[in-house]
Amino acid sequence: MAQAGSVTIVRVDPFLPPDDNARRMRPDVFAKCERRQPYMAVQEAGVYPYFHPIEASEGTEVWVDGRKAIMAGSNNYLGLTHEPRVLEAAQTALMRYGTGCTGSRFLNGTLNLHLQLEELLAQITGKEAALVFSTGYQTCLGVIQALAQREDLILCDRENHASILDGCRLSFAEVRKFRHADMEALEEHLSAGEGRGMLVVTDGLFSMTGEFARLPEITALARRYNARVVVDEAHSFGVFGDRGAGIADHFGVEDEVDLVLGTFSKSLAGIGGFCAGPKYVLEYIRHNARSLIFSAATPPAVCAAAIKCLEIIRDEPERRARVQQISSQARTGLRNLGFNVGSTESPIIPVILGERMYTFRFWHRLLAEGVFVNAVTAPAVPAGMDLLRCSFMATHTEEQIERFLSTMDRVRDQLAAESLRAGSAAG
Ligand code: PMP
Repeated sequence: MAQAGSVTIVRVDPFLPPDDNARRMRPDVFAKCERRQPYMAVQEAGVYPYFHPIEASEGTEVWVDGRKAIMAGSNNYLGLTHEPRVLEAAQTALMRYGTGCTGSRFLNGTLNLHLQLEELLAQITGKEAALVFSTGYQTCLGVIQALAQREDLILCDRENHASILDGCRLSFAEVRKFRHADMEALEEHLSAGEGRGMLVVTDGLFSMTGEFARLPEITALARRYNARVVVDEAHSFGVFGDRGAGIADHFGVEDEVDLVLGTFSKSLAGIGGFCAGPKYVLEYIRHNARSLIFSAATPPAVCAAAIKCLEIIRDEPERRARVQQISSQARTGLRNLGFNVGSTESPIIPVILGERMYTFRFWHRLLAEGVFVNAVTAPAVPAGMDLLRCSFMATHTEEQIERFLSTMDRVRDQLAAESLRAGSAAG
């Protein structure tokens, strides 16, 4: 099969029976899978950075390809996946309830553990109630789909996480995306939408750049134009704010945010999601969010682990201070080495390299040298802003950060020397 632009040309194969050739000529949704894809060149170059298996984990260090590497690419910000109290809680629940809920929260899947979780989440976010979903992704889908209806308007930051964008696609409301963090653009949309039900949705901490949302301005604008505000605190919950409730808590505007969304897949060391807010709204979402009703509930061991993590977040603010200290060491170190890390103020540190193949080669060499990070390219980031997403944990040691920094420096030097050699060989 040959490809011309976006049109696939199917040629008659003289060695196939006529029926098979006739079938080949008909449109087939699988045809695109036979075409050459952009990721194939990266795979052929031996630097493909995705779906790479981790063979074992101790939290801050993992085994990959039979070797140990510093994990500088996880969302385990508080390092709680290997905390003994969390492991013990998960084990106890596993033996008491079994491995899975085998059904939706709506029918047979609600455990008393889900209700305990909801109570703790409401307490930490300072909201009246909370509702637990099975993933953060499903939380965003379900909340937006349930609330925003045909006559409504959703205002969405262009760099919001895919789960928010997909929630917008799933709802029947009109969606207007505004330029990232552009308050003038947001105000224009709000003013044009006066008289309609409006929902402003934003990430609290942007997951690729590590930047804070401008929540004091967003909440003030929303109040002026009578819009509701939903903040996804996926990456900031447990890490920022006096109570650990995220960026709204950090800025002291938590009462101005109507609904707080979050995930268990980062600081809560498992998988699951939640929405916190007024009780009557959550009661409505509980009966209308399709991703909640039609998908099985978070398993017992994961619920028990998340409960223990929430208690630790509530009782041990020093863990938040520690992750800030470790990330500040990494940020300052990278800046001193001359890397471009943008304007991050968080444990998410993007090392912006710009060019796609260079980013993949850098990722591959880092892993060979004992450092695991994440390679991120367009469309997850704007074209030409390809980056290594590095992220840090409260449990990293200063020595691990120093080792991470010296490896970054060495790999950059090695790649520069190799490219010089390749250039002079070609010249
Ligand atoms: N929101 C944001 C901002 C995220 O970064 C993510 C996941 N990376 C999600 C939602 C989805 O969370 P989950 O992994 O629990 O599905």
